Amino acid sequence: HAKHGGRNRLAEFVPAMTAAAQRSAVLERELRRAIEHEQLAVHYQPQFECSTGRLIGVEALLRWRHPDHGPVSPAEFIPIAEESGLIVQLGAWVLQRACADVAAWEQAGGPALTVAVNMSARQLREPGFIDDVTRALAQSGLAPHRLELELTESLLMEDVPGAIAFMQAIRAIGVRLAIDDFGTGYSSLAYLQTFPINQLKVDRSFVQLLPGRGGTIIHAVLALARGFGLSVVAEGVEEQRQLEWLRHAGCDVVQGFLLGAPMAPDAFAARFLSGPDERTG
Ligand code: C2E
Ligand code: MG
Ligand code: MG
Ligand code: MG
Repeated sequence: HAKHGGRNRLAEFVPAMTAAAQRSAVLERELRRAIEHEQLAVHYQPQFECSTGRLIGVEALLRWRHPDHGPVSPAEFIPIAEESGLIVQLGAWVLQRACADVAAWEQAGGPALTVAVNMSARQLREPGFIDDVTRALAQSGLAPHRLELELTESLLMEDVPGAIAFMQAIRAIGVRLAIDDFGTGYSSLAYLQTFPINQLKVDRSFVQLLPGRGGTIIHAVLALARGFGLSVVAEGVEEQRQLEWLRHAGCDVVQGFLLGAPMAPDAFAARFLSGPDERTG
């Protein structure tokens, strides 16, 4: 029976598509529940000054451990949070946690670290976002220059005048700005002189190509950054020889699994903030 056969062939195909769509619908529902039930956590990855090996800051990275499915990657749930608008609420919460944790470590006698928080395009367009930032700073007592917002090139290019206005408002309250995953997007180099940023984060794909071609690109980024008075963070440092190369080249800050993976606040404090010993290069 032809009709029946057709349906059977289709049936082999449709469930796969439905499964992907369903997974995303289920994840959105579960993400709402996770926010309500506080199943989300902010983890911290250390950042070190390249020339001295001194711990100078952290990047805040959102984590979701689903009670049944285990850890869900931000690469999977951040896009869902963006599409559903949940990222606005979630992003405000990350800001608040990040500022509170870093301020608390300092109050407990730790060093005055900076904290970098990732941003989504949706937050940038949200009129209340600047208020969220000032509230997170006020509630934690963290000085504005200790907070840094990470923006991607694609986010900035979506609406350049809007992005510049946003960046000026952020800089006006003293908060710093970085371009994340630098070199992988489509922004024009000309924008580096118009965007009021403080830092470039070289994408880990270049760090992983070191020395060779990755080296050529990172040398160029370092020269550009110096010209514009920006500092450079190399992310995704996994090998000692990459670290050596970056130190020789004059990179400012390094971050990566070699130096420390993202960790829960308690684990971070236990590993990096307890005891008098300082990490030296
Ligand atoms: P990102 O901002 O570029 O963060 C760096 C990512 O690289 C993190 O992945 C981190 O765990 C990973 N990483 C760090 N060191 C190494 C290394 O040496 N080797 C390798 N292979 N990877 C390394 P993660 O935590 O899975 O986050 C993925 C992305 O999700 C982030 O990329 C960021 O774009 C986004 N994200 C995470 N948290 C947030 C958040 O709170 N808000 C928003 N809007 N986005 C977030
Ligand atoms: Mg980042
Ligand atoms: Mg990055
Ligand atoms: Mg990224």
